[in-house]
Amino acid sequence: MAQETMSFQAEVKQLLQLMIHSLYSNKEIFLRELISNASDAADKLRFEAIANSGLYENDPNLRIRVAFDKDARTITIDDNGIGMSREEAVSHLGTIARSGTKEFFSQLSGDQQKDAALIGQFGVGFYSGFIVADKITVETRRAGLPASEGVRWISAGEGDFSVETIERAQRGTTITLHLRAEEDELLSSHRLQSIIRKYSDHVALPILMKQEEWDAEKGEMIVKDEDETVNQASALWTRPKSEIEDEQYKQFYHHLAHDEQDPLAWTHNRVEGRSEYTQLLYVPARAPFDLWNRDHRSGLKLYVKRVFIMDDAEQLLPPYLRFVKGVVDSADLPLNVSREILQESRDVKAIREGVTKRVLSMLEEMANAETEEGKAKYATFWKEFGQALKEGLGEDFTNRDRIGKLVRFASTHTDSAEQTVALADYVARMKPEQTKIYYVTADAWLAAKNSPHLEVFRKKGIEVLLLTDRVDEWALAYFTEFDGKPLASVARGDLDINAFDDEEKKAHEAVGETLKPLVEKMKDVLKDKAKDVRLTFRLTDSPSCLVADDGEMTGYLQRMLKAAGQ
Ligand code: ADP
Ligand code: MG
Repeated sequence: MAQETMSFQAEVKQLLQLMIHSLYSNKEIFLRELISNASDAADKLRFEAIANSGLYENDPNLRIRVAFDKDARTITIDDNGIGMSREEAVSHLGTIARSGTKEFFSQLSGDQQKDAALIGQFGVGFYSGFIVADKITVETRRAGLPASEGVRWISAGEGDFSVETIERAQRGTTITLHLRAEEDELLSSHRLQSIIRKYSDHVALPILMKQEEWDAEKGEMIVKDEDETVNQASALWTRPKSEIEDEQYKQFYHHLAHDEQDPLAWTHNRVEGRSEYTQLLYVPARAPFDLWNRDHRSGLKLYVKRVFIMDDAEQLLPPYLRFVKGVVDSADLPLNVSREILQESRDVKAIREGVTKRVLSMLEEMANAETEEGKAKYATFWKEFGQALKEGLGEDFTNRDRIGKLVRFASTHTDSAEQTVALADYVARMKPEQTKIYYVTADAWLAAKNSPHLEVFRKKGIEVLLLTDRVDEWALAYFTEFDGKPLASVARGDLDINAFDDEEKKAHEAVGETLKPLVEKMKDVLKDKAKDVRLTFRLTDSPSCLVADDGEMTGYLQRMLKAAGQ
């Protein structure tokens, strides 16, 4: 087919402009992104070759090659992975904006540093080449297609790109970056190697470069014909813990999560027994912009015996832990496992239970930290992911008690909207005669704090939890007691605050007698609007308040369901 010129999709254009400008100070990442794509392409080939070994085409040694040409001022990244067909090149490199692009744009702040981090998180990948190149040529052929179905894709990263069909004997993809005028410093073996070691050391594939040697006669470095492997080239999680440094764990996380920030915590271990697998799990320091989207992708990659199987293996994690990033490498699952099989598999169920326990232990460790730094970490975790974790109170019956110890609330004890109070702290402060944990729900902290229901509690010095997250009331419909103490809404009917003393009680009874006719009259007037009218001594400043019956929805939940159209 002849050459054709096509326009980038509108959002791709916007993204390109933005990236070239805001990521410039961090330009080295282009190499990380292109190597990561080459590594993904190798993973995909291995995976497809499970069913069709012919795809290897007598070239089974997967590798990535990085080279440069000083005279032509180019850098090339070459892989013998899956490659792309013409349609794939057109759609993957130009016309399809990934899901979440719109949302991504809506989150941009205009602050370069923040936006750069967001872009990294979004994983702009391929287009980062345009930070250093004013023209990119991609030559590729998909594994299994004939040599006559190679593709050449060229773009200057502005409005459009061209594609044409070419002869290409070699399977896989060669990406050539034609460097911008001021980028000559990248044309150095030393420089490229140090970038590769910094960002791509953990890539499981060898990254090859030609060796260089000092030629004393000529007084310059000359490129030899022998290859050298620049990176470690072994999957990090397969190496023994004792041999891995913190820095390497962090670098692996950056690669895995597309997140420039360091993770808050991680855990790495091999599980043996009924089900055999290795897990390396991270808690990020920041929620991705799409955590609350329905189509948010979960962060676990599934490998089987070191062969990459899939991203986004949501069956391996309960939804309330969707913020966790990491790798699970199973020794038992079949290589041709599909999402459907995953749903049914007992091995997967065992893995999910194991991963869940492991994450909860990691969070417990963070929550129990004694140092200021450790405490700050848990506070960060809670700010970013607390609402997701609370969903676990309603979702995960098996681990409800453990989750109950991890949740944090605002309360009348701290007089701050920040959620820092653990239920155990609340219980430790309970009055001797107090049997319940009291809470009030509202849609904002100020509203909760000023709720008329709180007056009597304040007067008696009883602490009340102030619940203002959308998920709270739903979660507490399932989470009904902690440490043997029932949780009780202050907005429900009869409150047995046993703190009344006898004299007070007698006085109340006397007042009750006197006011009986009034109460009867009000009942009559309100008979279509209220189920009952009761005299109360709970209020100290307000004349009246609405309460819900036991087992009935409170006002807040009613309003919420109504807002959700139920
Ligand atoms: P991502 O890697 O997050 O999908 P990228 O922008 O890095 O996003 O790449 C876009 C897509 O282009 C990839 O998903 C893949 O389909 C295709 N692609 C990029 N580089 C290669 C390559 N070296 N080999 C095969 N396909 C590639
Ligand atoms: Mg990529």
